[in-house]
Amino acid sequence: MTVRSVLIGALVAAALGLAGANAQGRLEIFDAHLHYNQEPTPFYSLDKVLEVFRRNGITGIVATSRPNTGTQQLVEAKAPSLWVVPFIRPYRVRGDMQTWFNDPTIFDLIKSEYERGYYRGIGEFHIYGNAAASDWVKKMVDFAVERNLYLHAHCDEEALLILFAHNAKARIIWAHTGFTVAPARVAELLEQHKDALWGELSYRNGITERDGKLNPEWRDLFERYSDRFLLGSDTWINERWFGYDTIFKEYRGWLAQLPADQARRIANGNALRLFGPRPPG
Ligand SMILES: [Zn+2]
Repeated sequence: MTVRSVLIGALVAAALGLAGANAQGRLEIFDAHLHYNQEPTPFYSLDKVLEVFRRNGITGIVATSRPNTGTQQLVEAKAPSLWVVPFIRPYRVRGDMQTWFNDPTIFDLIKSEYERGYYRGIGEFHIYGNAAASDWVKKMVDFAVERNLYLHAHCDEEALLILFAHNAKARIIWAHTGFTVAPARVAELLEQHKDALWGELSYRNGITERDGKLNPEWRDLFERYSDRFLLGSDTWINERWFGYDTIFKEYRGWLAQLPADQARRIANGNALRLFGPRPPG
């Protein structure tokens, strides 16, 4: 073996290693919790946002915004290689978060926004405990069920159960998967609400240990329910746009510790199953 062939061999090995890393890095990700808020102007221009998605390997998003104009822009941009799944945000201004569930004008907003014809869900909305029992929340849940819309609910367990009690056919994406609800309880809820409940993992506590290794309870949960989780950035404030790359670097860090089929489902396979088929283009 000549020095040259050894050198070529080393180069080929390095290239293969790089290709492997790229293949891992290119795992397509669907961001199922995105806010493109505009009050009155967005933190990033539309072009900049699309660039952020591209460099992070984001090929699909659940788009929401306050007010809904940001979502409309993302839909109308028809950006190549970005699949936009729009959800109706039931807020006009930040203050609506505290009052929407008793506000008839919000139900009107949902109905009129729905007329655009492209929405696939309602949310993210915030609801806690017995506030979910209001007539206007029930109207919204029934409206969603009748039109095959998902609900993206930032809620505690009590409110989650009330949403299902309003209408047993509700399909709920649980924003943040309850933040701190014990993994064993998350498993019970997923088991009790098959084809009706999915967990979205932004801000979810406890998935990894301090060293970045997957927590064993979460590893087990993903093994049993890899078809029930979605990833999200939750760009609710400008800092989250600023930290977008870091958020997805962390996701990729623990996805890489899972078997490839589980990682693919959580990264984008489940979104495809929920919202697909993906339109061509
Ligand atoms: Zn939230």
